Amino acid sequence: MILYILPLRFQDNALLVDLSSTLSEVFKLPVSILQRTLPLDEGYDPVRNQFNSSWILSRLLKLTPEESCKIIGVTEVDLYVPVLTFVFGEAQVEGQVAVVSSYRLRDELYGLPKNPERLKERLEKEAIHELGHTFGLIHCRDPECVMHSYTYAEEIDFKSKNFCTSCAALLKSKKNKFNDMI
Ligand SMILES: [Zn+2]
Ligand SMILES: [Zn+2]
Repeated sequence: MILYILPLRFQDNALLVDLSSTLSEVFKLPVSILQRTLPLDEGYDPVRNQFNSSWILSRLLKLTPEESCKIIGVTEVDLYVPVLTFVFGEAQVEGQVAVVSSYRLRDELYGLPKNPERLKERLEKEAIHELGHTFGLIHCRDPECVMHSYTYAEEIDFKSKNFCTSCAALLKSKKNKFNDMI
């Protein structure tokens, strides 16, 4: 199984390279950065000035290079789902696709000085979280577990990059089940 990262209007290449090595370490899978274009403007809502993350997921599904892979879109644009003001990301639970945005993870959005290291950490956590969903994991009550769901960017700093013991065990069993299927 391969994890693909698809940059969608994401300019920071160094950050993508860091992200790919972290994801490879965490999921123990090869990670490759895909170069494909997606007509992102079709998912744009001019009234909200945001992009519909569910629309992005539906487009990513059409792009998946092979059946046994996961693909995560990484973007700088602001994402939403219709029932929420914004989302950091979205994923197909026990599916193949996920998307994550750095837009609300940047300190400068909240009037603070730029903090590249914190942005990197937050983006890694959110990408691991969304990919966790694609492996069938749901939200976890452990505040330090990466599968814990937080509403505000600064709260993401409370959780670690790691899965708690029970989420880690579940991830392992889901991965094994998946490997048996192929
Ligand atoms: Zn979640
Ligand atoms: Zn957990």
